[in-house]
Order: sequence, then structure tokens, then C-alpha cells
Amino acid sequence: MYKVKEIFRSIQGEGFNTGRESVFVRFTGCNLWNGIKHNRKNAICNFCDTDFLGTNGKNGGTYNVEDLVDEIDRVWKISFSLKQKNVILTGGEPLLQVDKQLVETLKAKNFHISVETNGTIKSNLNFDWVCVSPKDPKNWVLKNGDELKIIYPQNKFILKDLLSLDFRYFFLQPKEDKFVKLNLNKTLQYCALNKNWSVSLQLHKIIGVQ
Ligand code: SF4
Repeated sequence: MYKVKEIFRSIQGEGFNTGRESVFVRFTGCNLWNGIKHNRKNAICNFCDTDFLGTNGKNGGTYNVEDLVDEIDRVWKISFSLKQKNVILTGGEPLLQVDKQLVETLKAKNFHISVETNGTIKSNLNFDWVCVSPKDPKNWVLKNGDELKIIYPQNKFILKDLLSLDFRYFFLQPKEDKFVKLNLNKTLQYCALNKNWSVSLQLHKIIGVQ
């Protein structure tokens, strides 16, 4: 059974596929923070802007594989008319729950499958797009994929060293905290001077959709 916080339609707001119509599946739970605000200070990841606790979001629940894929397909069909169906598995940390059975069942329904992971769990599942956004070098093990996204500034990573890793695209995304404008300026400056890095903005927040 899979625990899912919410399933919703939106556009991809971040990274290379910005603007792409998608169904998002937010899995419950993360291994870098327990999601409880007063524990955030001591968490490995302490700047999270996502509620991934419980199963009480839109279309959330505890699903078996068939019911979960049927629900994803239903949300796609009531939302979009594109031929290519696109699902984004996110969280929390989706790789705590996503398995071969789920990937194969989604493929059987012709979904293009993207995953957004913090990179703490190795995976050889047959995803179509892998976005890795590590939060701490110490527990980062998944070091290849399609895009690497670093929340910026983060002084735990030496950015120039990351460019030798096996990713196609490298993104910096301004950290969403009380210094967000300053973070945006620093991100723009760094990417202007270092052309291998591109800016990722959270478009869905800018245009006011989920
Ligand atoms: S790793 Fe991702 S989901 Fe987990 S606490 Fe950090 S930002 Fe949130």
C-alpha cells in the first residue's frame, strides 16, 4: 500500500520541464525531516516548504497499486487533453515508497514518469525523467539523472565539483526563506558568471497555482 498526501493537476513549475502539464503525486513522509515544525531546526533538511504529512490532502489516501494508478489516470483525464500523459512522483521523498510494480503499472497506462528525489536512495527503476535535489552531501547516494537541482545558497556543496556528475542539466533554485529576494539575486549572479548552471524559479508560485 502507498501512502499519498495528495494527487493534483498542475504545471511543472521548476527546472527543465517548467510549464509542462502534469499530475503530481505527493507521497507521504521524508527521511530528512519528520515534517513537524518544532523539529525543523535539528533536521538534516531544514528549509522545506512542503506539507507532506498524513494523507489528508486533495485525493490523498492509502492506495493499492491499481487504485493509485486509476486515480492518477482519472485526474489526468479530467484535467488535460494532451496525448502524452505525464505524472510527477514527488514528496516528501517518493523513493521511500515508489517501487517496480507502481512504475510498471503507470507505464502500462502510457504515463511519462518523472521523479523528484532528495537523492538519498539509489534506484534503478525505469523512470523517464529523474530530478535529484540533494540537501546534504553526507547522505547523497543517487548521483546521476536528468537534472540536478541545488537550492541556493547552500554552503554544503561545492558547485563547480558537481558539474562532473552524470546529469544533463544543472539548476540553482533560490531558497524560499525570509531572504528570498537576496537569494534570487545571488542565484542570478552565480548563473550569469557560471554558464553551466541555469536558474530554476518556482513558476507555480509566481502565477499562483498549486
Ligand atoms: S528533502 Fe525535500 S521533502 Fe524532504 S524535508 Fe527536504 S525539501 Fe522537504
